[in-house]
Amino acid sequence: MNDNDPNRTLIEATHLSVRWENGSGIVKYFTKKDGSQLRIVKNPNNGDYIEIQAVSIDTQTVTLTKDCMGHRVPLEYHAFETGEMIKAGTYQVNKIGVGWIGILKEDGTNVWVNPNRDNDYNYVSGKFTFFENDVQTLSVSQINGIPVNTNYMIPNYNRVVRPGYSNVPLYVTIHNTANTSNGADALAHAQIQYNRRNSADIWTSWHFQVDDHSIYQSIPMDEVAWHAGDGSMMGNGNTIAIEICENNDGNYAQAERNAAYLTAQILYENGMPKDAVRKHGDWSGKNCPHNINDGTKGTMGWSAFVQLVGQIYDQLVEENQEIEEIPLSERFSEYISKTGYIYDQNLLYGIELETSVSDVINKLQSADPNAQITVMNQKNEAIGEGLVGTDFKAKIILGNVEENNVEEFLFTLVIPFDINGDGHFNALDYRSFTYYMLDKRKYALSYAQKAGADLNHKQNEAISVNALDYRQMTYAMLK
Ligand SMILES: [Zn+2]
Repeated sequence: MNDNDPNRTLIEATHLSVRWENGSGIVKYFTKKDGSQLRIVKNPNNGDYIEIQAVSIDTQTVTLTKDCMGHRVPLEYHAFETGEMIKAGTYQVNKIGVGWIGILKEDGTNVWVNPNRDNDYNYVSGKFTFFENDVQTLSVSQINGIPVNTNYMIPNYNRVVRPGYSNVPLYVTIHNTANTSNGADALAHAQIQYNRRNSADIWTSWHFQVDDHSIYQSIPMDEVAWHAGDGSMMGNGNTIAIEICENNDGNYAQAERNAAYLTAQILYENGMPKDAVRKHGDWSGKNCPHNINDGTKGTMGWSAFVQLVGQIYDQLVEENQEIEEIPLSERFSEYISKTGYIYDQNLLYGIELETSVSDVINKLQSADPNAQITVMNQKNEAIGEGLVGTDFKAKIILGNVEENNVEEFLFTLVIPFDINGDGHFNALDYRSFTYYMLDKRKYALSYAQKAGADLNHKQNEAISVNALDYRQMTYAMLK
């Protein structure tokens, strides 16, 4: 790290310690604000300080496909070798650096390996490490109506565009292409990268490119791309890069919105938090994404972008929420079948519109005179009159306390057509339903509401609302 280097990074540290280590001499340890440590050591070749950043990750397993020399620290010097060969196999890992993997040994100590280098530290191309949580491509073929293409994935390892280093992603990094030429859209940028697959001199690459109508992926998300300008640090080593196109014959503002949807999808599918999004400039100080920084080309600005990503992410979480299905005991299934209602995925079906609370209680009671029944509204208040609506609950206790054989179950009531939960079907329900159909992400329905809208639902099927339900709703409104 040379003080005159324009690319040097400013590190906010809370603590600095300096100590002597055999083999490397003076070593500086910065403790950063987030608690992680940065180890800085003098390069024995030229005396400059060099940096290798190690990041702690949730412990997971990694599979090494080749034998590697163990190292005490994640640096490429024979002086740091432990002399112990780590055999190909599967290991627990809790630290990563770019290309370096910190293996947790059974005695609780760490050993570092770098499968991307041979014994003389020459680069070896290829992917030699596989983490258990690796995600390579997205699970969807379109995002908010924008197709996701993988036709130009870079096919072969190449140190300058697709090095094959393991990427354990911690953030998404946002870029602008800074290419305003007509036609410089996502496809064009995907082709530029694809055509560099056999070159050896352009050290630039990124995972995704997005324009106003398409998304192209070039590199698997579990591999490093060279985009952040921070060498062997976190930007390149632990992030997924998105280039937003700004070709003059495209709509930049739309490309940026598409990028927000893409970012949320990437964060969600990789299990990253919704605010794990950074600008290129956060890693290297470069003015990128320059439109977002400078307020040009109709950008929404950084804070609005991050906020939009968060909203879309929340909707993905909501939509993909899985309700744990608790199987009914034999006694409860027998009881429910006597009521004439149907139980599916913790939901109770078979109640019609405009049914009173007392009718429901009477019906539940008729199947077992000793059952204790409580009906609650959406605020979980026990009620005895009025109509039941979607998302009301029924708590049912079967058995005898004295005989110590009591069983309790909480059911969520679903009244088809009743989206807003007032027990009626009217224009308000129809409007909510229509909004939901127009933009499912923006107007997310709750689980119970969706069940009420899924009019062609069959037992033991996923709850899904589609055009057939919409048609039924529309016919019902016309009547
Ligand atoms: Zn950039």
